[in-house]
Amino acid sequence: MKIYKNIPLKKYNTFGLNYTAECLIHIKTEKEASSLFNGSADWKKPLLILGSGSNILFIDDFKGTILYHELEGIKIEEQKQNKESVIISAGAGVIWDKLVEWTVENGYSGLENLSLIPGTVGASPVQNIGAYGTEVKDFIEKVKTIRISDGTVRIFQNSECKFGYRNSIFKKEEKGHYLVTRVYYKLIKKPLLNLAYGSLKEEVSRLGSESLKNVRQAVINIRRNKLPDPQIIGNAGSFFKNPVVSRSMADTLKKEYILMPLFEDQSGLTKLAAGWLIDQCGWKGKRIGDAGVHDKQALVLINYGKATGKEIYELSQAIQKSVNEKFGVELEREVEVIGTI
Ligand SMILES: Cc1cc2nc3c(=O)[nH]c(=O)nc-3n(C[C@H](O)[C@H](O)[C@H](O)COP(=O)(O)OP(=O)(O)OC[C@H]3O[C@@H](n4cnc5c(N)ncnc54)[C@H](O)[C@@H]3O)c2cc1C
Repeated sequence: MKIYKNIPLKKYNTFGLNYTAECLIHIKTEKEASSLFNGSADWKKPLLILGSGSNILFIDDFKGTILYHELEGIKIEEQKQNKESVIISAGAGVIWDKLVEWTVENGYSGLENLSLIPGTVGASPVQNIGAYGTEVKDFIEKVKTIRISDGTVRIFQNSECKFGYRNSIFKKEEKGHYLVTRVYYKLIKKPLLNLAYGSLKEEVSRLGSESLKNVRQAVINIRRNKLPDPQIIGNAGSFFKNPVVSRSMADTLKKEYILMPLFEDQSGLTKLAAGWLIDQCGWKGKRIGDAGVHDKQALVLINYGKATGKEIYELSQAIQKSVNEKFGVELEREVEVIGTI
């Protein structure tokens, strides 16, 4: 375990914001995590668990302890000859896309549509990450955690995780109470591809046959073309969630805005495209100082270099206000704001 004081956070968040943390603790094993939380170590509250910081907006220096973990290792847990599925597990600190790459190389299907999403394995159940018609919840078997109040281990089965759209028990009632240490995924041993979303099928056929590898490559190509690379320009992907509204509200909006894209969900509600709403309010490509809205995807806010977290936050407020005024729709932030507003 390593403990650092007054550490700059620039490389710990994909917006590249240069705040500091009063204390940062690096751990590499579950044992270190347990001993940190079972009362034998002294650390200053509040605690923030950090993966790659790709869904975080710091708006201030962090006056507490940041826990950064490198819990490694990908394992096959259970593989029976006569079974169509395989259970694998990965340490919470494994880079998400390294895990996806590994599953595709081993011919296990399920996660390929989630290629190139930044971040760590540990955040995948917290966020219930999703892209191209796939959500990780459909492949999570269970989640191993350590309780922060006493250092004990608790396993959450899939049904206990209360997964929702970019949501889980770890973001709601148990927020900040558990460190995810290992995630178990149930994958399929033969390719079972999901090409229903957008231009995915087209891109796969441009690459050749419908194989796991081509689906992964197609997702990578589409994402690289559409989304800014945080290594080059600071961002945290989609800043807002797609709003979910009642069918009657969606029908009213559609009468007025005939081109508005709508997506029915299974519960009878309708999802609107937040990026489209923001674009219609004229925000795409706009820049205020060094905070801006991406010119290819209005859902992505960017830091051109010297923006502060507060400036990005204020831009997000201005966007919320104009979407509300034009459409009567509330945009909820997907990115977690850390600091006092
Ligand atoms: C360019 C870009 C594209 C993106 N595209 C997508 C996309 O297509 N789909 C999508 O779903 N997301 C997307 N994201 C958002 C982001 O990649 C995901 O939310 C990702 O899961 C965050 O992982 P992280 O390790 O960076 O988590 P962080 O941002 O570090 O943390 C996110 C939250 O999870 C908690 N957390 C992290 N690790 C743990 C742990 N081990 N135990 C307990 N809590 C933990 C943190 O405390 C925090 O509340 C994108 C981001 C970027 C920058």
